[in-house]
Amino acid sequence: MGKASRDKRDIYYRKAKEEGWRARSAFKLLQLDEAFDIFRGVQHVVDLCAAPGSWSQVLSRRLYLPAMQSGRQDAAPKIVAVDLQPMAPIEGVTQLQGDITSDRTAQEVIAHFDGHHADLVVSDGAPDVTGLHDMDEFVQAQLILAAMTIVTHVLRPGGTFIAKVFRGKEISLLYAQLKVFFPEVTVAKPKSSRNSSIEAFVVCQRYTPPPDFQPSHLQRLLQGAAAAQEACMFASPSTRLLVPFVACGDLSGWDADRSYDLPAEGYVTLNPVQPPTAPAYKEALERAKFANSGAKT
Ligand code: SAM
Repeated sequence: MGKASRDKRDIYYRKAKEEGWRARSAFKLLQLDEAFDIFRGVQHVVDLCAAPGSWSQVLSRRLYLPAMQSGRQDAAPKIVAVDLQPMAPIEGVTQLQGDITSDRTAQEVIAHFDGHHADLVVSDGAPDVTGLHDMDEFVQAQLILAAMTIVTHVLRPGGTFIAKVFRGKEISLLYAQLKVFFPEVTVAKPKSSRNSSIEAFVVCQRYTPPPDFQPSHLQRLLQGAAAAQEACMFASPSTRLLVPFVACGDLSGWDADRSYDLPAEGYVTLNPVQPPTAPAYKEALERAKFANSGAKT
């Protein structure tokens, strides 16, 4: 699909370039904030699975830059972003390249906060989707549970965790697992997330680990919660755990599933704000270049 044609078919892709966001996902975080006021009072925040960085840009623009511009450098919030992929720099964001499923990454995040806990952890992580919904849902849920390792190490009691989920058949198991740590779990669908996609976001509020919780208890607690929910559903499917659903963003605003005509005159197709720093196709291009140069000599 050409850039102009994508501009027409994907209004949030077009708007992202106009507003300087690296990805259209920025609007999802902004719309989650409109509904849940997630940035209020936040001083320490972790952005998991952050590349190419549009959520980190939102955090920088909403939290870090206002503090710097008002001369409150000392009070500027700390933002740590983690991804497997490298990411071009963003003002006020410390980047860690690592795997969120590894304990080492959790330790590195903690080290960056000098003993402080995070008020907010966000995760927009997604594995490479296969199109097989059950498989994609399972792998996505595993990524969220990996994020929970970091959450239970860094989040302060009362803090908020937001993560992308794929709403499939087994989603109640994940809700049951999150409910062990968060009394308030809501599933939210921002207007910028296509209705045709099973993607949504869990907004988990008021982090309350069980009494005497140690991070080493995490796997046992998560497995226990999933097994208990599975047993209930096996006995009676009507015991499926449900959580409140919130549609967020201006509901009369831009529709992610609709095509919008481009302005008839003077329309300029913008380039993406930040080309990928290490795209998967880079090696293939280099090999092809090498092969072509060999063929010419
Ligand atoms: N929130 C980002 C933004 O606004 O630009 C977009 C995130 S993108 C949809 C998903 C990211 O998850 C990819 O950059 C991928 O590298 C990352 N990811 C997937 N599995 C990961 C893992 N195990 N550890 C760290 N990052 C991971």
